[in-house]
Amino acid sequence: MDEKELLGLKSKTTLNCTICDKCCEHRGDIKITPINVLEISKYLKIGVEEFLDKYTEPAPNEDPERVIKAVGEKMRCIFNDNTTFKCTIHEVEPMQCLVFPLVPWDLNKDLFINSNQCVLKNDKKMKVDKWLNSNHKIYKRNKFIYQKWIELMEEIQPWWKIIPKETQGKIVNLLYLEYDMNKNLEKQVLKNIEETRRIFYGKRHFNRS
Ligand code: SF4
Ligand code: SF4
Repeated sequence: MDEKELLGLKSKTTLNCTICDKCCEHRGDIKITPINVLEISKYLKIGVEEFLDKYTEPAPNEDPERVIKAVGEKMRCIFNDNTTFKCTIHEVEPMQCLVFPLVPWDLNKDLFINSNQCVLKNDKKMKVDKWLNSNHKIYKRNKFIYQKWIELMEEIQPWWKIIPKETQGKIVNLLYLEYDMNKNLEKQVLKNIEETRRIFYGKRHFNRS
C-alpha cells in the first residue's frame, strides 16, 4: 500500500522500531493531555502539580496545551534515558509517541497516515492494530478521551487570547489540577472537559452554532 494513503486498523504499512532514539531527540513538541498528566504522575508516584512543573511546559502559541520538556544540546525528551535510549514512561506514553510514525487522521474512524519519519529504512510491514496495541493497550484505553480533548482544543484555542485572564486560570486549573487520584481518572477528565465548555460558553464570549 502507498504509505500516503489512509490506513485503517487492518492495513499493513512499514512499521518497525529498534529503539534508535532518534524520535526522542530534537523534541519539546510532545503534547501531553490531562489523562497523560494523571497517568504519568501516578506512574512516577508524584503529585500532579510537581509533575507539571518538573516535566512539562506550556505549548508555545497553543494555550492551554502543554508539552513535555526537552533538555540538553540535543533537546532530548526529558523522559528518554540517555544511556539506553529507552522511554522511561513507556507504559503510559502520550498518544503522539504511541502511534509514531503514524499520525492520527480521524480517530473516530481509526484512520491514520504513515508520516514515514522513522529513520529506520527497511520495508518490514505490520498491521496498524498490532502496532497500536503493542504497548499496554494505551491506544484503546485513551483514544476516546484523546479525541474529546482534541475537539475541546479546536473549539477554545482560536479564542483563547480574548478570554479574560481569570477565566483562563479557572480553565487551566480545572483541566490539569482538579482531580482526585483515588477516583476514576477518565470519568473526571471527561467531566472537566464538559465543565470547561460550560465555563467557556456560559460566559457568553461566544455562541455555539
Ligand atoms: S526513529 Fe524509528 S527506529 Fe528510531 S526510535 Fe523512532 S520509531 Fe524506533
Ligand atoms: S515520552 Fe517517551 S517516547 Fe515520547 S519522546 Fe519522550 S522518551 Fe520518547
